[in-house]
Amino acid sequence: MTQLTTHTPAATKAITVQEIRNLTPAAYVLRFDRHQREFLAGQHVILGIKDENNAREYSVYSGENDEYFEVLIKEVLEGDVSRRLKKLKPGTQLQMDGPLGFFTLRPDEINTARFVFIASGTGIAPFRSFVRSYPQLDYTLLHGVRYSNEAYERDQYHPDRYILCTTGDTSSNFNGRVTDYLRQTAIDTTTQYYLCGNVKMIHEAFEILAQKGVPTENMHAEVYF
Ligand SMILES: Cc1cc2nc3c(=O)[nH]c(=O)nc-3n(C[C@H](O)[C@H](O)[C@H](O)COP(=O)(O)OP(=O)(O)OC[C@H]3O[C@@H](n4cnc5c(N)ncnc54)[C@H](O)[C@@H]3O)c2cc1C
Repeated sequence: MTQLTTHTPAATKAITVQEIRNLTPAAYVLRFDRHQREFLAGQHVILGIKDENNAREYSVYSGENDEYFEVLIKEVLEGDVSRRLKKLKPGTQLQMDGPLGFFTLRPDEINTARFVFIASGTGIAPFRSFVRSYPQLDYTLLHGVRYSNEAYERDQYHPDRYILCTTGDTSSNFNGRVTDYLRQTAIDTTTQYYLCGNVKMIHEAFEILAQKGVPTENMHAEVYF
């Protein structure tokens, strides 16, 4: 949770909402002006409604070469900002800080390393940005959600590279949590593991990967909540 006032005015930019794409009753993609700001796939922005002192971090969902920025947000019913951003109309003004953050790919590994991306829920956002920015990546994406309809825009990933894990239905690739999948699967210790989502999943996955011999320098995490 971030207060916009803690950032210098020069870093905060007024931007305009271009469109909102609803993916499920709760999840939506917000597209807004980029104004040619530099960004590296995996970074996040800090978004709030203009002139309101309330903003939150959101990973950029769009690619480095897109002319706009997109973020993928899940409405948290008891939350404040995610609920209000969902109701915005095209043309509304937002305030944005960033892009910021270090959850990015190492340039020397983009064409050489093998990656496993592990996401819970909207934690898939930075991975969509990785894949959209670098279609040549050698990756497997493990996505944990409750129901199969939360496989947000799965057609963006090669079907052989996307593994959907669901706990609430069985029409996915794996019935269970991403951590259950990791426990049951052979793990390559030379792969780069990127994890994003809720802290419980990230802690558990780190422990499993470490027990299976993955060195800590091959594990990278972005915690959402
Ligand atoms: C670096 C970073 C990047 C992030 N990127 C994204 C993103 O791409 N998409 C996205 O949807 N969120 C993302 N988040 C989370 C986001 O910043 C907000 O926390 C979230 O939208 C809730 O804000 P709110 O104001 O609606 O609820 P708040 O009033 O801030 O929080 C209400 C409660 O909801 C919990 N909560 C927060 N997020 C979730 C969630 N997804 N599911 C269930 N409970 C939750 C909080 O822990 C809190 O207890 C990111 C967070 C960080 C730190």
